[in-house]
Amino acid sequence: MTTATSQGSARTLPEHVHVFVVGAGFGGLGMAIKLAERGERDFLVAERGGDVGGTWRDNTYPGAACDVPSQLYSFSFAPNPTWSRSFSPQPEIQDYIRRIAERSGVLDRFRFHTTVEDAAWDKQARRWRVRTSAGELTADVLVSAAGALSDPKLPDIDGIDSFQGEVFHSAQWNHDYDLTGKRVAIIGTGASSIQIIPEIAKKVAHLDVYQRTAPYVMPRHDREYTAVEKLAFKYVPGVQKLYRTAIYWGRECFVPGFTVNPKLALPAKKAALGNIAKGITDPELREKVTPNFQIGCKRILISNDYYPALDRDNVDVVTDRIAKVTANAVVTTDGTEREIDAVIVATGFHTTDLPIAAHIRGRDGVSLAEHFAEHGMQAYKGATVAGFPNLFFIVGPNTGLGHSSMVFMIESQIAYVLDALAKMRATGVAAVEPTPQAQKRWNDDVQRRMKRTVWSVGGCSSWYLDEHGRNVTLWPRTTFAFRRLTSEFDSQAYVATPAAATTSHTSTLTEGVGA
Ligand SMILES: Cc1cc2nc3c(=O)[nH]c(=O)nc-3n(C[C@H](O)[C@H](O)[C@H](O)COP(=O)(O)OP(=O)(O)OC[C@H]3O[C@@H](n4cnc5c(N)ncnc54)[C@H](O)[C@@H]3O)c2cc1C
Repeated sequence: MTTATSQGSARTLPEHVHVFVVGAGFGGLGMAIKLAERGERDFLVAERGGDVGGTWRDNTYPGAACDVPSQLYSFSFAPNPTWSRSFSPQPEIQDYIRRIAERSGVLDRFRFHTTVEDAAWDKQARRWRVRTSAGELTADVLVSAAGALSDPKLPDIDGIDSFQGEVFHSAQWNHDYDLTGKRVAIIGTGASSIQIIPEIAKKVAHLDVYQRTAPYVMPRHDREYTAVEKLAFKYVPGVQKLYRTAIYWGRECFVPGFTVNPKLALPAKKAALGNIAKGITDPELREKVTPNFQIGCKRILISNDYYPALDRDNVDVVTDRIAKVTANAVVTTDGTEREIDAVIVATGFHTTDLPIAAHIRGRDGVSLAEHFAEHGMQAYKGATVAGFPNLFFIVGPNTGLGHSSMVFMIESQIAYVLDALAKMRATGVAAVEPTPQAQKRWNDDVQRRMKRTVWSVGGCSSWYLDEHGRNVTLWPRTTFAFRRLTSEFDSQAYVATPAAATTSHTSTLTEGVGA
């Protein structure tokens, strides 16, 4: 069988491409498929890993699954009638992504094991000069689909390097290490951890769960699809679309609880507290795992077996802070030393510092990371940044969701990029970048709306917030509002460089495009 890797990695890089895409997750793959559908063949996707899939290629930990139903957590243009259940496990999602990639016929445009190391805008040539681990090339347009949850974040714990046992991050699971009968520490109680714990608690000798903040964990309404449903998905037109639509609107109903009035989320809080009462018998443990902030402030998690796993005799929830790790133990600030054989680090990802930003340099030679450090991580419509011509993000700043499918947002952003490319081509524009005013207006509005959201007033600190407490990751409105606002490339917000002009001769895009 031809694998994604075998199709995409052996070829060398061309000298130049029209569109250069970084990353082959849902974002990069969707971009490639839609470019090809529009008849564009002059593009390339560089992926540092060996396959498509991104998140779903990397997160292979036991229990990994989506927490948005697969009917919605999939491409609208590629429904999958064979989902086995409402919340698909990781192998099924990864198979789906790989199948779509193979079926779409774009894999020859992918280069795997190719890390983008540097991309610098060349003012004179009006193109990106890109250096990758597989060579250099230039590109007219750079699309970063490098992921918002793709670079594991490691905790800064004193002594962890001296630990003699096994240590790995949840996104880099060591499948060669057998946890059976081992004494294990897991650090963190976020989305990955609550999926891992029930799976490994059954086999380890002892598990210490290091919890900094207790999350809200609601019941998981998961079930297998019946044979009749699967047949209907496959053969009865519209059935699967109906499921998807119902799930979509059901999820959008959560938005007011996050963004307008947290009281609207009280039924969800009740369900989460009921989940604790049902899953845990020990009153002291119940107390420990009861959150002390408003529901929704941190990501709401779903599981039916997390609390019963914590209630097991071989599992301890430790809420004292970790002071250090020694050669064979974790020591907490109260002086307790807990001996272990392995540490699983489930502390999430670099989210508010977008690692790819350190590798992109704009019009004035300034890196995007430096730009973000000065102005905060922000973009216009989560897609473009003033000073960085012809750079587009898929899943850029303030496009994340707490309630629905990121694939919906990804498709909105892809449509925006496609429209930009079409308008640039139609009007002979070489480069576009948003005006600083448009970018400021957009972000002022996002941050104004953010003020009343549960993420700001809910009484927690979360990975949504940067070091100044500013929410730079989430979208504070409905997903249909985002889709409407990104449905068209809005030329009037951009500065354009006509193809034949010098860089000093710029004009607002309304003069050249879409006017
Ligand atoms: C465990 C887990 C579960 C999740 N579950 C859900 C869910 O249920 N529902 C939901 O909506 N979202 C979920 N998410 C969020 C998920 O990340 C997005 O839904 C989606 O998969 C993001 O796709 P992407 O293409 O933007 O990024 P990714 O899938 O992260 O892909 C980015 C790709 O870019 C590559 N890359 C990065 N830097 C470079 C570089 N310098 N050079 C070359 N390649 C590079 C990476 O290797 C990666 O393959 C989950 C995330 C995680 C971690």
